[in-house]
Order: sequence, then C-alpha cells, then structure tokens
Amino acid sequence: MSADSDPAAFPAIDRKAIDPDACKILSRLEEFGHRAYLVGGCVRDLLVGGAPKDFDISTDARPRQIRRIFRNSRVIGRRFRLVHVRFGPRIFEVSTFRAPPAEADQGDDPYITRDNVFGTEEQDAVRRDFTINGLFYDVSRRKVIDHVGGLRDLGQRCVRTIGDSLLRLREDPVRILRAMRFAARLRFELDPELTAAMFEVREDLRRSPPPRVLEELYKMLSSHGAARCFELFEELGAREILLPEVHNPPERLRRALTELEVRTDGRRDRVPQSMLLATLTGPWVLSVLKDVQTDDREAAVQELLFPIARRFVVARRDVGMARQCLAAQWSLRHPPHGRRSHRLTYLESFRPALELRRILGPLDDDDEQAAETLEAWEEHGRHAAPPRDPEGRRPRRRGRRRRRGGRRRGRGGKDLSGPASEVRPGPCPPASD
Ligand code: ATP
Ligand code: MG
Repeated sequence: MSADSDPAAFPAIDRKAIDPDACKILSRLEEFGHRAYLVGGCVRDLLVGGAPKDFDISTDARPRQIRRIFRNSRVIGRRFRLVHVRFGPRIFEVSTFRAPPAEADQGDDPYITRDNVFGTEEQDAVRRDFTINGLFYDVSRRKVIDHVGGLRDLGQRCVRTIGDSLLRLREDPVRILRAMRFAARLRFELDPELTAAMFEVREDLRRSPPPRVLEELYKMLSSHGAARCFELFEELGAREILLPEVHNPPERLRRALTELEVRTDGRRDRVPQSMLLATLTGPWVLSVLKDVQTDDREAAVQELLFPIARRFVVARRDVGMARQCLAAQWSLRHPPHGRRSHRLTYLESFRPALELRRILGPLDDDDEQAAETLEAWEEHGRHAAPPRDPEGRRPRRRGRRRRRGGRRRGRGGKDLSGPASEVRPGPCPPASD
C-alpha cells in the first residue's frame, strides 16, 4: 500500500519538536520489550511542520501491561480501553494496537458499535480514518512507518480515507466532520471519492451520539481554518442536518469565525466552550432577535438555544454563560449609562460578553460608533465598583463557589435555564425543518 511513499520527500522530524515526556514513555515501553510509536495527528503535524496538539502513542503492550509499567497511569474507556499516563498536569494517551471491526460483528450495517479488538501494528494503521492520520513514527530509529500511503497523500495535500470511503464513513459518520476539519485546517483538498461519499452518507450523521458530534463541532470551531470548515459544513448540507434551526447570515459567521481565530490563536484549546457555542449561534441569534422588543432578552435567547442544548446535551453552565453573553450584546450596543450598566460590569459574564462583542461585531451594520462604545465599556469595566446593597454594603463578587463536599453550585446571574436543567439527549431533527 505504501510502495510510492517516500519519507525522504519530507524534512527529517526534529527531535526537539517531540515532547520529552512522550519520548520517556516510548523508551520505557521499549525497555520492557514492547514496540511503541508516536501515531496519528502528531506524526502528520510533525511532518508538515506544524506544532502537534498532543502526542498519542500506540504499542503492542496491553492496557494492563502499560498500567503496570507506569505508576502514574490509569486505564480509561469502556468501548475503547486505553491508558492515560500522567506527567504533572499533562496526560498522554497510550493505546494498544487494534484491529478493524470484524465484518461478522457488523452484519449488513457497517456502523461501528464495538471497537476494542486488539490487533497487529498494520491492522492498527488500517483501522484509522484518513491516510494522513495513519502514520507511525519510531522515535528511537527515527523512522516514519507508512502502511497506508499517508506520506504520498501528505505530499499531494489530500485527505483520503483508508480503504473504501463509503464504508469508512458508514462505519462512523463523525468522520465526515473530521474530514472537513482536516481539509480546512491543513488547506488540503478532499479526495473526490471521499467528497462523493460525504454527500451520500451525510444523513447518517443523525446516528452519531450527540455528545461526540458536539465535541467535534467544538473542535471545528477552535481549529485553524474554522471559517472554511463551516463553509464546507454548509455546502455539504451537514448544517441542515445537525443544526437546522441555526440560520447564520454567512458573511457574519465568516467574520465571527475569522475574528475568533485571530483573537485566540496560540491558546485555542483554552477557549471556553460557552464562547464557542455563542460564536456558532451568535450571528443567527442576533439577527432573529434584532428587532424583537422584549424586557427579558435572556429568556428570548434561551428559547432559541434550548432545542440545540437539549439535542446535544450541552453542559448547563455553558448554555447559561452563552445565553448571558448573547443577551448582553443589546446592552453593549449603547455606551454605558446609569445603574443598569454598572450592574452589568459586575457580572461574571461581563468580560466574556465584551469578548463576544468583538468576535461578533456590532449588532447593526450601520453602528458607526461601535469602536468607541466598546472602548467606553472597557473603561467602565475597569473602574466599576460592586453595587451597594440596600444597607450600603458592597456584596462580594459572585464567582464559582464550591459547597462543602466539593459539589458545584449554580453560577451568578439570572438562572433562566428552566427546562434546560433537565437536558436530555434528543434525536437529531428530521431532514426538513
Ligand atoms: P488533532 O490534531 O485535532 O488532535 P488528530 O488526528 O490527532 O487531530 P484525534 O481525535 O486526536 O485526531 O485522534 C488521534 C488519531 O486517532 C487520529 O489521527 C486517527 O488516527 C485516530 N482516530 C481518531 N478518530 C478516529 C475515528 N473516528 N475513526 C478512525 N480513526 C480515528
Ligand atoms: Mg490528536
């Protein structure tokens, strides 16, 4: 399969670019007589000169053997058992070589429900999604191992499935979203066979567990090339399937995603999910509620967000913060004035709401004073003191607090979550809304 893959076509991987703790894990596994490689996204990123987000490791050692070698480790996952090895705050995923799902397990339906059969090194490469994600790197021998033609596709800047595209997407429709993300992030082309399969299988996205889809949507939002990725999402009709109610004005969404990328570059992993949710839904929410007269803007925003929150089982605190930040956009369009503005600056959502305002841009296209208004709010926020209670005392800032026993309480701000507090996974909506 890898006959025409030529590692020499790529600059050698610089050892300094590899995390030293990942190297320690690899050499320790080898000391115990196991084969162990860097795998997946980190090899791809090292070869194209990018900085890997994380360093995943694959080995022929079984989870229990890995667990015994590393005291700082634990076995996780029910469907897919792997080991987390901890170095301080950082965690490395060490997985045992796996085999592709056996046809006997799948019957006529290729959708993967079981994926935990151990296998050989070659099988482990072949079960991965795209050729560019199927490369191994043997750190001690400084050798790229290519069982799937990944080097050729990296050279040709092409996202291609390993094996038959239709089958691979049917096995796991989330791969449709992953394909878009890698194409947009790396500025690679999608293989035409893959593109055709993405169109054919897109309705299967409804079968994927909503929390997995949500996690992928968050990754798409916080990845390089998010604006392009969401163009593909729209072109493919995936938005219509997963988020049929969210009609973002395309130009405003593009602006928001570009701005998000500029403002958060270098710390993308740390963008709060509430900010990602507010960015994804913001242009739509603002356009729907633009001319709506209401005293309770938060309730109006909540009504729009609720079906999405329920369908994807979004964390309640993320919906709450996204809702507050979105509702605050109407107050932030006028310069600060009076006690209400003062109160706003004191909320936990004030800074994120200002940040969101920068990302989404002004509410009205003809808001010429937008920059000055934003400046005035910044200034106001710097000098605001907490409002006094009726007895003239200044209350303490409301932040995240812990109850005795460590359980979390609700956050500050009005709690309008209503039925969202009972968020349950919901089915994806039918094809047409
Ligand atoms: P990123 O830089 O976003 O982390 P990544 O390629 O490392 O990209 P991960 O989600 O971290 O993506 O997955 C690590 C590796 O596991 C992938 O490179 C791929 O080989 C494999 N993988 C992940 N998800 C799937 C999937 N749905 N189907 C098959 N293989 C997958
Ligand atoms: Mg990764």
